[in-house]
Amino acid sequence: MRKRILTGDRPTGRLHLGHYVGSLKSRVALQDEYEEFILVADVQALTTHFENPELIHDSIYQVAIDNLSSGLDPEKVTFVQQSMVGAIAELTIFYSMLVTVNQLSHNPTIKTEAKNYGYKEMTYGFLGYPVSQTADITFCNADLVPVGDDQVPHIEMARKIVRKFNELYGTSITEPDYKLSSVGRLCGLDGNAKMGKSLGNAVYLSDPEDVINQKVRAAVTDTNRISVKIPGNPDICTVFKYHKAFNEGESGNICSMCRNAAIGCVACKKLLAKALNDMLDPIREKRAYYEAHMDEVKDILASGTRKANEIGGRNIAEIKEKMHVSL
Ligand code: ATP
Ligand code: MG
Repeated sequence: MRKRILTGDRPTGRLHLGHYVGSLKSRVALQDEYEEFILVADVQALTTHFENPELIHDSIYQVAIDNLSSGLDPEKVTFVQQSMVGAIAELTIFYSMLVTVNQLSHNPTIKTEAKNYGYKEMTYGFLGYPVSQTADITFCNADLVPVGDDQVPHIEMARKIVRKFNELYGTSITEPDYKLSSVGRLCGLDGNAKMGKSLGNAVYLSDPEDVINQKVRAAVTDTNRISVKIPGNPDICTVFKYHKAFNEGESGNICSMCRNAAIGCVACKKLLAKALNDMLDPIREKRAYYEAHMDEVKDILASGTRKANEIGGRNIAEIKEKMHVSL
């Protein structure tokens, strides 16, 4: 039996190159070895975007298309719309009884938010999102969750919740493990340490060629390099970081040309834009297909969600019986 992976995205907009290198690429690589559930986490999206339900609704399909066009095969993976799976909501409620407010307030994401904005404005839903994430992971007894190192505390909390729950009620919910991603954060082309939707520096998987060219043209390079004639320093150049991430084959050559002033920033950016467009071309082709076949996208989401409900429904019935939650 293949191990089950639960992963997904919050539909708060389209996915960008940071998502691609940080998670989509490995999802595609792992789809044969594991049984993958891709959660379109529209309830999680509400924790920060509850005032913008239209954006979430539109993004559900865009995020599904971003995943499909990146190479996930709908015959192999299961797409799940979170809000449509009752077992996730029920589990969230049950788990929430076993988690203390103190525990939640020590979670690094919550801590950062509290430090920046205090608790006055923080909603109950946001504070509790590691609990609902635990329900996301365990409704189908997922074995593994691919994460960046910032997400490890969430999985550790999930394990604690599940262990306590199993001990208390005699259930046998799988304690999930994490699968640590070796890829770090993708920086922004503007020099920001992170590419992020809300940072205004995202390069989207759905960006057409001319937008890619224009975004790359505006990228910051080695600011000390005021003339093409003086050597550049790739170690501090954003564009070079992108060459390493997206144009590995040429990056060694580009590095030495830059250090020897044998290539200028304009030409170097053109090479990067070409590499990105080459990488995105097959993704664009699949996107065009799915955008012309939206019914197919909806069917993929609907049938995956149906399967999730069958699995979740069986599990939650068993759990409730063990908890003596019954008529
Ligand atoms: P926002 O700016 O609204 O927070 P975002 O662009 O940071 O949006 P999220 O939805 O917060 O996107 O990201 C979800 C996950 O995607 C992160 O936990 C991380 O694993 C991955 N991710 C996002 N941005 C990057 C990035 N720049 N590099 C690598 N991974 C990323
Ligand atoms: Mg973010």
